[in-house]
Amino acid sequence: MIQDIASTVTADPDAPRSAIRTPFDDSLLAEVPLTGPDALERAFSTARAAQGQWQQTPPRARARILERFAGILLGHRDEMLDVIQLETGKNRASAMEEFGDTVLWAHDAARMGPAALHEQRRPGAFPALTRTMERHVPKGVVGIISPWNYPLALPIGDALPALMAGNAVVCKPDSQTPLTAGLAVDLLRRAGLPADLMQLVVGPGAELGPAIVGHCDFLMFTGSTATGRVLARQCADRLVGFSAELGGKNPLLVLSDADLSRAVPGAVNACFSNSGQLCISVERIYIHQDLWDAFVPAFVERAGAMRLAAGTGWDADMGSLAGTDQLRKVADVVDDARTKGAAVLTGGAPRPDLGPYFYEPTVLTGVTPQMDAYAEETFGPVVSLYRVASDQQAVDRANDTRYGLNASVWSRRRGTWAARRIHAGTVNINEGYAAAWASHAAPMGGVRESGLGRRHGRDGILKYTDAQTIASQHLVPVSGPASMSHERWGALLTTGVRLLRRIR
Ligand code: NAD
Repeated sequence: MIQDIASTVTADPDAPRSAIRTPFDDSLLAEVPLTGPDALERAFSTARAAQGQWQQTPPRARARILERFAGILLGHRDEMLDVIQLETGKNRASAMEEFGDTVLWAHDAARMGPAALHEQRRPGAFPALTRTMERHVPKGVVGIISPWNYPLALPIGDALPALMAGNAVVCKPDSQTPLTAGLAVDLLRRAGLPADLMQLVVGPGAELGPAIVGHCDFLMFTGSTATGRVLARQCADRLVGFSAELGGKNPLLVLSDADLSRAVPGAVNACFSNSGQLCISVERIYIHQDLWDAFVPAFVERAGAMRLAAGTGWDADMGSLAGTDQLRKVADVVDDARTKGAAVLTGGAPRPDLGPYFYEPTVLTGVTPQMDAYAEETFGPVVSLYRVASDQQAVDRANDTRYGLNASVWSRRRGTWAARRIHAGTVNINEGYAAAWASHAAPMGGVRESGLGRRHGRDGILKYTDAQTIASQHLVPVSGPASMSHERWGALLTTGVRLLRRIR
């Protein structure tokens, strides 16, 4: 069954194949054809040809396909969860999070899309004389490049609003996780999406990336800040639009009035969900000194008690890391911290007895700016705890970063106070990351080096369009009637402008 999904990839019949292995035990899942230069060109020309018709399809009809997709996806829940888990090594609860999110986002995008895209009458330059319309025209073919950590929610979650807005999509999921996206594309087609409209291409980012940028009319990228910079420069050369969700070093604040019965389990989930390989998960916790002695042992105990396991059962609290590179990165960060004097309160070791890439949930204290764990994203199950003297200091330390993706605040009464002072695209109060992410009607994205543009909400649909203003002028031209002197027209305009300031 899994091997069949590979046929959704656009590639030449004799294309070399890439082996997709499960991080659970390194066994082979499928062999996926790689998209070569000719096939990539074909993907774009096929998508572009299909887009013309799709653009003419009324937004309500497009929305119906997205809604049908949400239903079909729900009907294939177990199959989809299996593929997500096998490809990424994540535990089932983490796979369920992205599954549920994608179903709801398909529904929400379908619900919001037609209204967001509806042509709007706007006040004209001259009342009654100028009739002005604002409309939103699809960009054309949107390129999507996404990472391996959320192989459904990222590539498909970004494709849905682009399709809703009338675009075609050429999507490059990470080479390690093309099967989840492939299964989703198959389900989208079963929901009625024209077969050619969404193309899946697979191959190394550095090889396919420039060609995708070279052909697309807009690029949506999710991944590391380093790759984001490279792609931003390439998009700038072509003057095509670019939106990016990048890295983070997300803080969690335990303020002086936090309810620890909620904060402790909430913080464990915020740090170790998806084995910490989540752009919006937490890697720094600032704890008010009055709560330090109560919070730290409870947090450490709960993190240390997490059940780690391979396989597609529901029991595991945490799964594997994604592969060799991730395991090495996480182990290096922890070893560096330990060598330079940090204390490991729990975890700090790989678990080869469970699978080749398992690593324990790890809690550090005594982390200093000299250590890699301090300011750079680990992207793994490693968190550093810091004691702070006041709530204000927690906020100041949270802001002491070049990133600004997500923050989490735990407090009975001061959550909004802190949130308004934190520089981050999303702030969750008494929740780790999911409340803001899953509020699909509101925009989501990063500030500073964590991203450009927003996904979700009206902004997340309209970014895949160009606004067009159509204004028709009646009776009197804006420069005045030909029969009237400049001075007389100037006087009339002055009176008119005065009046407009009062009534508008
Ligand atoms: P990455 O930047 O190495 O790769 C992401 C994608 O970009 C992959 O598909 C990869 O093949 C492609 N790519 C790599 N080099 C490329 C190039 N030169 N040109 C074009 N494409 C290229 O990131 P990663 O390590 O796979 O993913 C982890 C990173 O992603 C972390 O920094 C994480 O924070 C970030 N991330 C961010 C979000 C978000 O929404 N902000 C979500 C998930 C992951």
